[in-house]
Amino acid sequence: MTQPNPVLASPTPLWQRELAEAVKDPAELVKLLELGEEWLTPAQRAAEAFPLRAPRSYIARMRRSDPFDPLLRQVLPLAEELVEAPGYGADPVGDLAAGRGGGVLHKYHGRVLLVATGACAIHCRYCFRRHYPYTESIASRAEWQEALAYIRARPDLEEVILSGGDPLSLADRRLLALTEGLNEIPHVQRLRVHSRLPIVLPSRITDEMLSWFAGTRLRPIMVVHANHAQELNGETASALSRLRDAGATLLNQTVLLRGINDSADALAALSERLFDQGVLPYYLHLLDRVQGAAHFDVEEAQARLLLAALSARLPGYLVPKLVREEAGAPNKTLLQ
Ligand SMILES: *Cc1c(COP(=O)(O)O)cnc(C)c1O
Ligand code: SF4
Repeated sequence: MTQPNPVLASPTPLWQRELAEAVKDPAELVKLLELGEEWLTPAQRAAEAFPLRAPRSYIARMRRSDPFDPLLRQVLPLAEELVEAPGYGADPVGDLAAGRGGGVLHKYHGRVLLVATGACAIHCRYCFRRHYPYTESIASRAEWQEALAYIRARPDLEEVILSGGDPLSLADRRLLALTEGLNEIPHVQRLRVHSRLPIVLPSRITDEMLSWFAGTRLRPIMVVHANHAQELNGETASALSRLRDAGATLLNQTVLLRGINDSADALAALSERLFDQGVLPYYLHLLDRVQGAAHFDVEEAQARLLLAALSARLPGYLVPKLVREEAGAPNKTLLQ
């Protein structure tokens, strides 16, 4: 009988196992968090439209028996999602119109965003891509060649942004294949990754990932996505410090969410905790008006008041820019 060779058979990395073992069944989430039975049926119904998905290490940061926990609220499917809200659509930021094929989104000067994959480690209920047709991503070889040709032909493109879904849900060898081609295009100077994985699945930041990210001639920038100070713990601190030690500039974007972080206290605590972990706040986004997320919306006037309150109590570098994304605009619209 042949035994698997223990040296050649590379074990599945921990992060990939954690990704595969994410909680997807509403009944399990309700049980793990000791929620009342009344949360189950709505969760099951809303999960039919957009499935539940939450890594266990993220769930471990939630309080038990608290249906209003700010982390739980980001992933728990609710009956409110099934309510049709006027003014909310499937493509609120005009991505379908801006798409150039091959997963390329070119909306702004000098930088181009690539939808590297539709896959994600977590399903945030407010996600503006919840209705996005993910077949248009660059993960396949042919699509990637098309994206590279697009970038090569435009010398004003200095920055390439890998987004998704979550680009870090791809395996390292796939990421390597993507950046090999970019490395050879002389006008590309910066590689930016938009990822929530350093926050929701910190085990993703492995030595292999770091040598990929910091191993090209491109300047590495990581824009993470945290919405609440309670998301940041010892595991995120060590993942983020490894990224910083590898030379990455670390920024954070937050979505302003009703019932989760819509208070000056919550936003100030988030900025301070981010700074403790080596990350500067970058954008505070008003919600994209995607169907099923209307219950998270914070009015623009209220958002401006929150920002004024933040500015009055924090140093300027801890105050994120309040923005809204508008279809067809040449940049994110600044609201302060
Ligand atoms: C948000 C976004 C960017 C990045 O914008 P910055 O203001 O540089 O952070 C680039 N392309 C697209 C399509 C975007 O939506
Ligand atoms: S991490 Fe980003 S892309 Fe993934 S579900 Fe959340 S908001 Fe959407």
